[in-house]
Amino acid sequence: MANPDNSQASSIIPDDFLAMLRCVNDEHSRDDGVLRVSGKMLVCTVCGYGYKVEDGIPNMLWDEAIPPNGETVDTAS
Ligand SMILES: [Zn+2]
Repeated sequence: MANPDNSQASSIIPDDFLAMLRCVNDEHSRDDGVLRVSGKMLVCTVCGYGYKVEDGIPNMLWDEAIPPNGETVDTAS
């Protein structure tokens, strides 16, 4: 009964939802800011900024976006 469903582990949000989201960085065109899933975040394919996803809801606030070289800053809440 080996039925590993680890395919779900990498998709933190539905693909069609992800496809609608765009990076909010003003430094590039909004349409260019396609996001991809990276770990528990969404990462912009243009500028590299990351957005945390919690319970399937991406935090698209620019003020809380994670800079590309900031790695995953695990702020212990
Ligand atoms: Zn971006």
